[in-house]
Amino acid sequence: MLIDAHAHVDRYDLVGEGALESALREIDQHRILTISNSMDLPSYERNLAIGQKCDLVLPIFGVHPWNAPQYADRLDDLRGAVERSPMIGEIGLDYHFVEDDSLYPAQRRVFEFFLAAAREQGKIVNLHTKGAEKTVLELLDRYEIPRAIVHWYSGPLDIFREMIARGMYFTVGVEVLYSAHIQAIAREIPSERLLTETDNPGGPKGFVGGPGMPALLKEVIQGVAEVRKTTVEAITETVRSNLLELARDGPWLMEPGERAD
Ligand SMILES: [Zn+2]
Repeated sequence: MLIDAHAHVDRYDLVGEGALESALREIDQHRILTISNSMDLPSYERNLAIGQKCDLVLPIFGVHPWNAPQYADRLDDLRGAVERSPMIGEIGLDYHFVEDDSLYPAQRRVFEFFLAAAREQGKIVNLHTKGAEKTVLELLDRYEIPRAIVHWYSGPLDIFREMIARGMYFTVGVEVLYSAHIQAIAREIPSERLLTETDNPGGPKGFVGGPGMPALLKEVIQGVAEVRKTTVEAITETVRSNLLELARDGPWLMEPGERAD
């Protein structure tokens, strides 16, 4: 089984007619356990419906920092979905793509709401850190978050190393095929913290010239194997066992078919 620890399966609806069906077929065909992150409440509803159709898609709830301003004054509306979600994502801060710093307090407010809930409910968080890596790290420390997946880390190496020291997990995605900085990061992640992702369908757009499809994960695994000078089989097995280890206290994450819900 392959692991896509950060994708947005609901967003295939925006790609066009039949895109979701093709994506689910590929997920099935290549046996890709896919953690489907949400951007907001409607996105989670959609992911839940897709998760009902496909056992390999795990829907999780979060509010993306880009959408945080819509929710900063209505955090109570999020509580039900947080309770229901087995993992929290996509959450975090974005000080890079969001240039208007008047929006940062709202991002922080929403992010801290989720961190407090994750701490309370013992849930893993799936994190967006773009341009705000240091602040994210400080907040993870403050909220004593023990289990975090840092998605597509591309920030400074000193903060990356501090995150490693805290026991965080890292997803490597399609940029490993193109960027020396990402390759350096992919090389340095300790084996027991390595995960793979696609950020499909939108994330890979700038690299592959269109929406990413699930099988792109195979190219990512190949790229990771190359920079780490090992085999595709070794990376596949490492990542699979890392995800199981990360979620060892979470009965929601079992082999497909064994999940209770
Ligand atoms: Zn994402």
